Amino acid sequence: MNVITIVGARPQFIKAAALSAELRRSTGIQERLLHTGQHFDENMSNVFFRELGIPAPDWNLGISGGLHGAMTGAQLAGIEKVLASEKPDAVLLYGDTNSTLAGALAAAKLHIPVAHVEAGLRSFNRRMPEEVNRVLTDHVSHWLFAPTAMAVANLEREGIAGGQVHQVGDVMYDAALYFCAVASARGERPLALRALAGRPFVVATIHRAENTDDPARLRAIASALMALSGEIDVVFPCHPRTRDVLSRLGLDVKSARGLHYVEPLGYLDMIEMEQSAQMVVTDSGGVQKEAFFFSKPCVTLRDETEWVELVESGWNRLAPPTSSDSLLSAFRTALGTTGAPIQPYGEGDAADRIARILSGAGA
Ligand code: UDP
Repeated sequence: MNVITIVGARPQFIKAAALSAELRRSTGIQERLLHTGQHFDENMSNVFFRELGIPAPDWNLGISGGLHGAMTGAQLAGIEKVLASEKPDAVLLYGDTNSTLAGALAAAKLHIPVAHVEAGLRSFNRRMPEEVNRVLTDHVSHWLFAPTAMAVANLEREGIAGGQVHQVGDVMYDAALYFCAVASARGERPLALRALAGRPFVVATIHRAENTDDPARLRAIASALMALSGEIDVVFPCHPRTRDVLSRLGLDVKSARGLHYVEPLGYLDMIEMEQSAQMVVTDSGGVQKEAFFFSKPCVTLRDETEWVELVESGWNRLAPPTSSDSLLSAFRTALGTTGAPIQPYGEGDAADRIARILSGAGA
C-alpha cells in the first residue's frame, strides 16, 4: 500500500513522528511525506524533523500565510497535482489545520481513500477554523481514527459509524511516552529550565485565533500572565502569530520580571518544561493533553475544549479570557490541584494500531 501523509503545522509533525516510524516498520506500507509548508521556519518546523527523526519530506509545497481561503486553495491545488501524478492508495491526514482540509478535499475528489488521525473531535464552535476543517475532513474520510470514546460518540451523532471508525487512542500520548525518554537521555536540560535555577514555574502557550485576533482577550491574557509572574515564574514560548499581535498592540510582556518570553521550543525541550512545571496555561489542544500526561494542572484559556474528559476529571479548567482578574483567580485556584485517575487516551499504542489497521492486519 502506497500512502502519502500530508503535514503542514507543528502539532502534525509531532503526531507524524509517532506514526511515521510505525508505518515505515510495517510490512506492506510505503509512506511518503508531503509538507505543505504552512509552518516553515527553524522553530516551527525544521527542529521537529531534526530532533524527532521524521523522514525528510518528499515534497514541500512552500505554501503558508495569507487568508484561510487563499492558503487552503493554494494547498489544495498543490496537493492535487502531487496526488494526481502519484496515485497513492491512501492519503493520511492529522488533526484540523488548513493543510488537513486541503489534503482531504484533494484526495476525495480524486477518489483516493482518506485516513484521518484525530477524527471525531468537536468543540461545537463553528467559528473556529479548526472545527470547520475537522468536521469536513471526517465527512470525506474512509478510515476515522478516533482518540477517545467521546470522539466516537461525536461521529455517531453525525451519522458516521460502523467499520470505518476505529477507537485507537491518541498518537500524542504515544509521542509523549516515547520522546520523554529521548529528552531525558540528552545530556543537558533545556536552557529555559536552567535559567530558572530550580525555581517553581508555570509554562504558558497562546496561539488560537479566537485569542490572538481579539485584542480584548489577548490584553486580558497578557495582563493576567504578567500579574501571575509576580507570584511564580512564567515561561512563555511565544508562537509567531502571538508575537506579531502582541507587538502590534504594544503589549510588552517582556517587561514583567518573572515572565520569561522565549522563542517557540523544540518538542523535546517543551515536554521537559511541562514535566517540570507546577502548572500549564494554554489555549493549545496538544498542550492541554500533555499537562495531563505529566499529571500537571492545566488552565485552558478558551470557552470550550475538545478534550472534555480532562475538564470533567478535574485536571483541566476552562477560563474564558474575559478579564485579567478572572484569569488570575483561575490560575490561583488551579495551582497545586490534581484530578481524578482516568486513562482516556489509550495505552500508548495508537500508532501501532493505526499501522496494523492500514496494512490490513486488523486492530
Ligand atoms: N509545542 C512545542 N513547542 C512550543 C509549544 C508547543 O513543541 O513552543 C508542542 C506541544 O508540546 C504540543 C504541540 O506543540 O505537542 C501542540 O501544538 P500547537 O499548540 O501548535 O497546536 P494544537 O495542539 O493547538 O493544534
